[in-house]
Amino acid sequence: MGFVKGLRCKECGKDYEKLPIHVCEYCFGPLEVNYDYAGIGKVVSRKSIQDGPPSMWRYKEFMPIDEEPKVGLHTGFTPLVRAKNLGKALGLKNLYLKNDSVNHPTFSFKDRVVAVAVSKALEFGFDTVSCASTGNLANSVAAHAAEAGLKSCIIIPDGLEAGKILGTQIYGAQLIAVHGSYDDVNRLCSEIGANHDWAFVNINIRPYYGDGSKTYGYEIAEQLGWKTPDNVVVPVAGSSLITKIYKAFHEFEMLGLIDKVNTKIFAAQATGCSPVTTAIKNGSDTIKPVKPNTIAKSIAIGNPADGYYGIKTANESGGWGEDIPDEEVVEAMKLLAETEGIFTETAGGVTLGVTQKLIKQGRIKPDETTVICITGNGLKTQEALTGHYTPPAVIQCNIQSFEEEFANNLTV
Ligand SMILES: *Cc1c(COP(=O)(O)O)cnc(C)c1O
Ligand SMILES: [Zn+2]
Repeated sequence: MGFVKGLRCKECGKDYEKLPIHVCEYCFGPLEVNYDYAGIGKVVSRKSIQDGPPSMWRYKEFMPIDEEPKVGLHTGFTPLVRAKNLGKALGLKNLYLKNDSVNHPTFSFKDRVVAVAVSKALEFGFDTVSCASTGNLANSVAAHAAEAGLKSCIIIPDGLEAGKILGTQIYGAQLIAVHGSYDDVNRLCSEIGANHDWAFVNINIRPYYGDGSKTYGYEIAEQLGWKTPDNVVVPVAGSSLITKIYKAFHEFEMLGLIDKVNTKIFAAQATGCSPVTTAIKNGSDTIKPVKPNTIAKSIAIGNPADGYYGIKTANESGGWGEDIPDEEVVEAMKLLAETEGIFTETAGGVTLGVTQKLIKQGRIKPDETTVICITGNGLKTQEALTGHYTPPAVIQCNIQSFEEEFANNLTV
């Protein structure tokens, strides 16, 4: 198998061989994977996809690997939830949640990108994988490295949530926290890469890694019955996911798997780290880097690698970008849990809260089909809810105590 012709510079179009590289040496543009779409079109159909495994690998012809996938065989094909209760609360008739808070194995959409990156690292023959991470990537790289039998050395900013830290260490990964933000860590990792011949999944393996996100978009289209929605609201960190959902829809359109795409893509950020949505709102096509300050740590990237393309995606698709303060992030996490029984992390609160704002602005309309991206699990970011709930009452184990508590303090 394998339909990858090589890498190509997104800016100047210069071609490169399939190597662990990510920047064009002529213009410093990012490299992306160049596929043989005619070849893919000859072997892929709706039926061939439907007959594939119930995982992201049902789209393996669209993935940048040359051999069979080696890890993450159960990743992806997560539920697309028809959200009737939440839709009612928001006044939307056709609302869906793409729920990667239950992705396998580490409960975020990052398992998609890492399944590809670590499979690719094995193809390249690396013995160690590494990454700069805001948390979810750390969890996923550690888990997949364990599955692959590779060593892992993971670098994070200090102050991440306990669930993200323990959720990395449990897999036996070497974990280092750095004084500073994700952007500082990312810079440091580029320097580490000069001294250590490791597969940095979101640096030298980035062109391959990013394409794992396309499967999130393919699944939305397939699960809607081979259609794309009117609106998708996407949480934005480095801007990889948002660009790849758009790319996925257009690849399916190009191969005739779906009709013409007419989807508006909306970028969602927390106000405390909103370089992409600020640029969109200001009508600018360049990122002004910021210093992150938000509880939505998983998407707190102040200088996003693909920020320019994130802005372009929202604009080209006819979408928009919005951000909300942290209080609204928490309110949205609660609303999602109380209406749909889904406990998302802060990033999911950001997408839902931003969706509410977009509805108020009239940018998302009641009859349209809207998909909200839920990309991570709330059990990993419990700190965000500190002070919002009191511990449960403890009573004696007899019926009188229960009835007393019920009469005095419960509201069922
Ligand atoms: C990393 C991450 C994102 C956004 O990722 P980018 O592709 O870098 O924009 C969104 N949600 C969660 C939960 C994440 O961990
Ligand atoms: Zn170039």
